Amino acid sequence: MRADMEIKFLNGVGTKRASLLASELGIRTVGDLLHYYPYRYIDRTKLYRIGEIGEQHSTSYVQIRGRLVGKAFLGEGRKQRLTATIADNTGQMELVWFQRSKWIDEQLSLGTEYVVLGKPTFFGSRVSLVHPDVESVERYLSRGNLGMQGVYGTTEKLTAAGVSSKVIYGLVCNLWEKIEGLISETLPRRIIEQLDLMPREEALRNIHFPTSPQALHRATYRLKFEELFGVQLGILSIKAGRTTLRNGFFFPRVGELFRDFYDNHLPFTLTGAQKRVIKEIRSDLVSGHQMNRLLQGDVGSGKTLVALMAMLLASDNGYQSSMMAPTEILARQHYASISRMVAGTSAEGHIAVLTGSTKTRERRDILARTLSGEIWILIGTHALIEERVQFDNLGLVVIDEQHRFGVEQRAKLWTKNAQPPHILVMTATPIPRTLAMTLYGDLDVSVIDEMPAGRKPIKTYHLKEALRLRLNGFLRGEIAKGRQVYVVYPLIKESEAMDYQNLYDGFDHIVEAFPLPEYKVGVLHGKMPPEEKAESMRLFAEGVNNILVATSVIEVGVDVPNATVMVIESAERFGLSQLHQLRGRVGRGDNQSYCILVSGDKLSRDAEARLNAMVETTDGFRLSELDLKLRGAGDVNGTRQSGEAVDLRIASLSTDGQILEQARALAASILEEDPKLSKSENSLLAALKERYRTGDAIDYGMIS
Ligand code: ADP
Ligand code: MG
Repeated sequence: MRADMEIKFLNGVGTKRASLLASELGIRTVGDLLHYYPYRYIDRTKLYRIGEIGEQHSTSYVQIRGRLVGKAFLGEGRKQRLTATIADNTGQMELVWFQRSKWIDEQLSLGTEYVVLGKPTFFGSRVSLVHPDVESVERYLSRGNLGMQGVYGTTEKLTAAGVSSKVIYGLVCNLWEKIEGLISETLPRRIIEQLDLMPREEALRNIHFPTSPQALHRATYRLKFEELFGVQLGILSIKAGRTTLRNGFFFPRVGELFRDFYDNHLPFTLTGAQKRVIKEIRSDLVSGHQMNRLLQGDVGSGKTLVALMAMLLASDNGYQSSMMAPTEILARQHYASISRMVAGTSAEGHIAVLTGSTKTRERRDILARTLSGEIWILIGTHALIEERVQFDNLGLVVIDEQHRFGVEQRAKLWTKNAQPPHILVMTATPIPRTLAMTLYGDLDVSVIDEMPAGRKPIKTYHLKEALRLRLNGFLRGEIAKGRQVYVVYPLIKESEAMDYQNLYDGFDHIVEAFPLPEYKVGVLHGKMPPEEKAESMRLFAEGVNNILVATSVIEVGVDVPNATVMVIESAERFGLSQLHQLRGRVGRGDNQSYCILVSGDKLSRDAEARLNAMVETTDGFRLSELDLKLRGAGDVNGTRQSGEAVDLRIASLSTDGQILEQARALAASILEEDPKLSKSENSLLAALKERYRTGDAIDYGMIS
């Protein structure tokens, strides 16, 4: 049997179930089923005494041996239920059935000993099991120890069609009968021995049919390790491939432009962290290798300036740069602030911005000047790659705020070209270490871990709806001091119409509470035509408007140092990293800034935890760790939406950090010796790497 055999051919499946398994769980082949692991287990290794059962067992299954000492029907008609009582010498327990009670009654005889399995519920001092599994002690003993029984995830649709967790368990049993003894090993023996890992077949058997909690633990460890190791081999071999090439543009000069800017045009002194990072970038640019660097720095830490200085170095060495931003607003803002900063240097007039909404004539002009080399720094949105903008000699690409850009996409940027440009990826989202090693594991990392001097920590408050009236007075006070205010509303695709309605209602209320001519209020959202967006942003940036009512389009990057208040409406609907990003829009100048989280009065536990965390800390790293715990890795930074899920079957980036570190270290040391994994002793690893690199975690043909 091959692992890519369609699931419908497995005993007990058939066409109808097969199509449900595929659509509901993504199980298409028998290999998929083999790698569909239980999400929890019922421990059938232990027989409890009735007296031992306490509240601590109320979420788990327990197995009890006892004698049937009574049974009776209670209630009438459809409400009729069967109750039975079993006893051992430590106490009594009640069993209850609401369905099929007549049939069950016939199976139970008073005075007989049974083994029952179920989840206990507690009514005062009474313990009962509802719809337990029951079998006679003889049968239980004749079957031998059952070990731990896997519980498989199902969906409502599957359950409705009769495919319960038990049915899936049965299918796995059918499959296992056929493939036992045929599962090949995917890791070299030396690694298995060195790390004392469970062999693959044993691990797969124990993940489905554990013989003991210890065996389950070892099986889980082995499979998690293999998964994380595969992912790391994939990522690190991309990196190894890059660093073995000596194809980086060489930027040896620190020329006039860089010096002139540094000496005469820097609007402030650099922070120590900015200086260090610029050095790290410089050493990449003279290394002969292509730079692939991730620049991490919390919101407001001054990444743009670092990027600009790298781009000036490129210009000094005769190369063009481009800077890609995720939104049009941000691209235009970078253009405005960079143009302002380099005014008076030789770069003045050699900078342009190109976005999807650039008018045809201007676009033609910019494209021509980019091709001729007259443009030194081209700023823009995704339009920059998509439109095959031609450069004269592109030497450096800066990607700003791009936590939504995948490993594969980045790889494309440099494989397209025989002589790939240097790449600097900047992200304001502090990514937990484990996630960074997985999403950005192929990059070198620089961190700006220091804020410009004089920044005051933002004060954050959580305001429930009932206290909203206080807010306007506070905002008037800030505006009277000459400050500006953002008011942000959530906007989610699923509830877009409602969300826009809320935004407009909110806007109306604000205009009512802050009337002309004393106050000016602007609005900004994604559906506005680009010119209107730009105009609205300009009016706010220049201080004409006091208040900007917006959707989270202003989440990334926007920089208006005079804005000191960020009001986030329906804050409970935002994710933690988004809240942190939004808060980062204030606190960019010398004035005390505030973030006000307005939420409904009743909150879910998770929402409460998120908002509390925001109030308690401004440390982006702590928030992102917490975010990872609350949401699970797949969702952090919207990776899932962008189709770049860290698609792990068994390992978890939030809890398996240590296994990840071990896997990464081993992968790195193996690749150092054998970057292409071409040695025969590494042939299994080459195969493993390929599987994880293509995102296809299952080895078809692994079962012969
Ligand atoms: P981010 O890292 O979030 O992209 P920006 O580059 O937008 O941050 O910088 C935030 C603000 O801090 C900007 O107004 C910028 O001009 C200012 N800034 C950057 N570096 C310094 C510095 N060394 N000292 C003071 N202000 C700085
Ligand atoms: Mg920025």
